[in-house]
Amino acid sequence: MVIGLVIPQNLKMPVQGATAADYHPNSFWFYPWGKSITHKGVDIFAKKGTPIHSAVRGIVLYSGSIKTGGNVVLILGPKWRLHYYAHLDQITTAPYGFVSQNTQIGTVGNSGNAIGKPAHLHYSIFTLLPYPWRIDSSPQGWKKMLYLNPIEYF
Ligand SMILES: [Zn+2]
Repeated sequence: MVIGLVIPQNLKMPVQGATAADYHPNSFWFYPWGKSITHKGVDIFAKKGTPIHSAVRGIVLYSGSIKTGGNVVLILGPKWRLHYYAHLDQITTAPYGFVSQNTQIGTVGNSGNAIGKPAHLHYSIFTLLPYPWRIDSSPQGWKKMLYLNPIEYF
């Protein structure tokens, strides 16, 4: 069972046309990161309006507007992992719909606390099954049992 959990998932780069040049290799767990203390995802920069596709197949649990994330989409994918997309310009999906890696869920923007900053997608992967062996001594290192580094899967 443990082996099943550590097999890499098949992730599709969610920002259309983006490459490794469009995010910082140390974006994940960047410190210090304001109120969040550490940055629990990756920021992928692209022109405002660039299409965003789901990185995995799954079901949309939430799409809407929240204070810090702005326009956000939350998708439950394989292995009980939640995929969080934030700062969208437009949302083009709705809750309880099934998505594939070909489904456009929105466009890149700078909504929420990214207003005034360059447009980018904040993308996080949160596992509902904790991976305690990933805990390390970095700031908030215990939370690494819950947040996975998307860059490892691109
Ligand atoms: Zn971010």
